[in-house]
Amino acid sequence: MSDLLARHRAVMPDWLALNYDRPIEIVSGKGSRVTDSEGNTYLDFFVGILTNMIGYDVEEVRQAVERQLATGIVHTSTVYLLRGQVELAEKIARLSGIDNAKVFFTNSGTEANETALLLATYARRSDQVLAMRQSYHGRSFGAIGVTSNRSWKNNSYSPLNVHFLHGADRHLPQFARLSDHDYIKVCTEDLRHVLATATGGDVAALIAEPIQGVGGFTMAPDGLFAAYKDVLDEYGALFISDEVQTGWGRTGQSFFGIQSHGVTPDMMTFAKGLGNGFAVGGVVARGDLMDSLHAVGLSTFGGNPISMAAANATLDYVLDHDLQANAARTGSFLIAGLKEAARRLPVVGDVRGKGLMFAVELVDPATGEPAPALAATVMEETRKRGLLAGKGGLYGNVIRMAPPLTLTEAEAKEGLGILTDSLEATNEAAK
Ligand code: PMP
Repeated sequence: MSDLLARHRAVMPDWLALNYDRPIEIVSGKGSRVTDSEGNTYLDFFVGILTNMIGYDVEEVRQAVERQLATGIVHTSTVYLLRGQVELAEKIARLSGIDNAKVFFTNSGTEANETALLLATYARRSDQVLAMRQSYHGRSFGAIGVTSNRSWKNNSYSPLNVHFLHGADRHLPQFARLSDHDYIKVCTEDLRHVLATATGGDVAALIAEPIQGVGGFTMAPDGLFAAYKDVLDEYGALFISDEVQTGWGRTGQSFFGIQSHGVTPDMMTFAKGLGNGFAVGGVVARGDLMDSLHAVGLSTFGGNPISMAAANATLDYVLDHDLQANAARTGSFLIAGLKEAARRLPVVGDVRGKGLMFAVELVDPATGEPAPALAATVMEETRKRGLLAGKGGLYGNVIRMAPPLTLTEAEAKEGLGILTDSLEATNEAAK
């Protein structure tokens, strides 16, 4: 065991999951690549956990942060006017498509979801919330309450009264034979049933990830969220889209993930990639909902000038370089290539995703059952070949990929080669 790993084990919680048999210490990054403390360089197909959205050491972001540092970092509180906050809020409000949108900045996705849930429950005067099965929304009490993925959920105490819905679980045996149309119908009838029989109808909101991140990039079929929104509207319940992983054009189809479902939500939450490595999260909501709280609120570090400088520069970069289009182009190439490889590899149960958010599910070739041990083998094989990926899924059998939105065609080809070789090696090992 390395000295640093031993020290980590001594003072850090056991439940901080480290990837790989021999955990990696990353010491620098440039573009789509990072280098570890042993001098190995990797093509980074997970960029933190979708945090370095436009890659490492981006000149525009570095300069913006350095300019802000040079001012003395004024000011880390929300009791003064902050130009960077207003500018970023204006951009996000415009991009959200939400009417009269207002924005509140936080430091993380967890806090963003906590804020959205507070707004919804307060505005609707109800503690009842709907969430999706296999969801992950963060690690505070409210966010854990709407999380259903058991491996990320330590307690079942919740300040909220939560009901979990179908919709991102087409893979379950009882749904496997249904067409998208019929699956949506069954799920929508179930939603109506839950509303009528379990809640009495006074529900605050549904919170949902357009593509479930930790859940293993499982997706609701197109049309499901629009059908849900129609039912929620009948009850006056709000729609919160958790865009922590799907925002900023990553899915290629739309700037925020939910928009490709033809749904304008009442609120969206965001975090991770926006600061390209700097901590920034937030909620964008209908103005009337955002203004519905009566008590004074603030976040000391939420929206701090350093994070705002980084986030403004990152968002401008995404828009100026039309990285959504790049995500669509390079993502389709990678997904098509992996689907092609999957046809001859029985260990691959599924390849799915949108844009630069795609996953490979590993199964036991004999039984089709989830195979977490094979996913661990793929992780080690990709590492050996110089590529970093993520793991996830309800059973830990899904390899998740979310390369930087700046990924070049050559890097996409290189990544596809490494992934294909690693899956082939895993397929051989499983024989
Ligand atoms: N929502 C989603 C969809 C996430 O993937 C995450 C983080 N994995 C969170 C919320 C929580 O974000 P944070 O870790 O910044 O609190």
